[in-house]
Amino acid sequence: MFLNVANLSITYPGAVAPAVDNVTLGLRAGDIGVLIGPSGCGKTTLLRAVAGLERVSSGTIAIEREAVSKPGLHVPAEQRRIGMVFQDYALFPHLDLAGNVGFGIHHLPKSERASRVAEVLALVGLQGMEARFPHELSGGQQQRVALARALAPRPRLLLLDEPFSNLDVDLRERLAHEVRGILKAAGATALFVTHDQLEAFAIGDVIGVMHQGKLHQWDDAYALYHRPATRFVAEFIGHGVFTPARLSMQGNDVVVHTPLGALHDLEECPLPSAYEGGLCDVLLRADDIVHDDASPVKAQIVRKAFRGSEFLYTLQLTTGDVLMTHVPSHHNHEVGEWIGIRPEVDHVVTFARDAGATATPAPANAILVSAAGP
Ligand code: ADP
Ligand code: MG
Repeated sequence: MFLNVANLSITYPGAVAPAVDNVTLGLRAGDIGVLIGPSGCGKTTLLRAVAGLERVSSGTIAIEREAVSKPGLHVPAEQRRIGMVFQDYALFPHLDLAGNVGFGIHHLPKSERASRVAEVLALVGLQGMEARFPHELSGGQQQRVALARALAPRPRLLLLDEPFSNLDVDLRERLAHEVRGILKAAGATALFVTHDQLEAFAIGDVIGVMHQGKLHQWDDAYALYHRPATRFVAEFIGHGVFTPARLSMQGNDVVVHTPLGALHDLEECPLPSAYEGGLCDVLLRADDIVHDDASPVKAQIVRKAFRGSEFLYTLQLTTGDVLMTHVPSHHNHEVGEWIGIRPEVDHVVTFARDAGATATPAPANAILVSAAGP
């Protein structure tokens, strides 16, 4: 691994709880890692520790196998060869782009500096704009200048802390794709912080979900969505609800009894023995529930949200259980209407019933992967 964070904890002086609590993660060279989580969960603190701006209480940070932070050792930020882009990108208003982008490479001879500035400006799509001033640029362009400035000294690692949060939503997702392209073209290894899921999915090779200082899961987007390690991850990523369920065996297959009816033919499901009496909670994602007028199961729409190509409906069953479903937006139903639904689930994610946000899913050896083909 290029960057290794091992059992890292950071407690601010006077604080009761650690801001970063026993976090372990590894980032490969050339990969983009993303940290996502609600405000105050410790993302910035973790990033600042990697940058060398915060001392660690315990654990280790190593870059290219060399420890840069651990108790009793703190390599100064300026010796870490790390580039940073922050939310308030703070370009120098009185300097043109050449001056802004060339700021961190003053040690280079003039002609080399000019060619490096031209190179990174081209990389961020602002070629030939050396003589422009920040106020002549849009917010998105200014943020790309900030990225060019951070890339100019060829840092071995780039840290980006919510760089788009001052920009409007539409621009944000587009920029996330653009920045991913730029970082990949530069061959950069980067750690990116956001609280926006779309941004995280658009930019990250690997994504970490943080909550109250803890890293709940460090995984690719697919695994976060389909195999959330904790209830918190399951609720934070995507739309879904937990519904009470009972697991039982029917021959060699596990059947999951839910308020929606029984789920059969699952590709992946824990064995009933993973839970006392087979009783657990099952995560039902909005895309596990299909609108089907022919289905005998009916649910009432209690809320709806338009999302362009589809609606996200929140539904209530006669049992009182709440579900969510994505439905193509030409199916425009009203709140209060009853619609037919059926589950279309091929693997289930289960959690112990009464446990809180830190509950762990059934152990991997309790997962039954059915051999049944399609
Ligand atoms: P995030 O970036 O995810 O919003 P932060 O890392 O900024 O979270 O904050 C994590 C926790 O540490 C919060 O409870 C915050 O109040 C606290 N905190 C952040 N910076 C400091 C600081 N300089 N001194 C004391 N507490 C801090
Ligand atoms: Mg922050």
